[in-house]
Amino acid sequence: QFISFEGGEGGGKSTQLRRLAARLSAHGIDVVTTREPGGTPGAEDIRSLLVEGEPGRWDGRVEALLVNAARADHVARRIRPALADGKWVLCDRYVHSTLAYQGAARGLDDAALRQLHAFATGDLWPDLTIVLDVDPALGLARAAGRAGGEARFEGEPPAFHKAVRDRFLSFPDVTVVSGDAPVDDVSDAVWSVVAARFGL
Ligand code: C5P
Repeated sequence: QFISFEGGEGGGKSTQLRRLAARLSAHGIDVVTTREPGGTPGAEDIRSLLVEGEPGRWDGRVEALLVNAARADHVARRIRPALADGKWVLCDRYVHSTLAYQGAARGLDDAALRQLHAFATGDLWPDLTIVLDVDPALGLARAAGRAGGEARFEGEPPAFHKAVRDRFLSFPDVTVVSGDAPVDDVSDAVWSVVAARFGL
């Protein structure tokens, strides 16, 4: 199975992904954890182009092409082979981030982004997408506080973060979990969703 974790900055995606991976492993499931943009050496190089350098270096169209270039490598070299081996793949960000950041926030056409995704990946979509939802003010404060924080959008106006959040909440094919609660409670909520969805 292929599970993606989505949401704005500082929602706890990577923490919850690690915790879910541990719980699935304890069930005897072979789990691969990965992230986007990135997940392979080439895609991590492309990630550096995206997250380093001055804010506003790329416009939305270039961002969309770079994240999809990274994803093409990641899907072909890591995600599809793992799924073919019967492993479960847990990915920190995937296509819904593109639709939210480059689509809703940067204003690119949703249908064009879906076509680009289809081209880049052979139209590989997750079996389950969990959106960890937090108020952007709280999320940005958390992201700013963590070591090595790479959040690129701290300087963006509140409207940008609101557009991202509203888009994440609007997708019909995601399950929203509140990221506000204590971390153990969020983990339990994530586990309930996964256990129900896959009959664990
Ligand atoms: O999830 P993480 O914080 O590692 O993401 C790295 C940065 O890349 C974040 O600032 C995120 O908002 C940004 N990003 C983006 N477009 C995407 C995916 C991530 O701008 N499609």
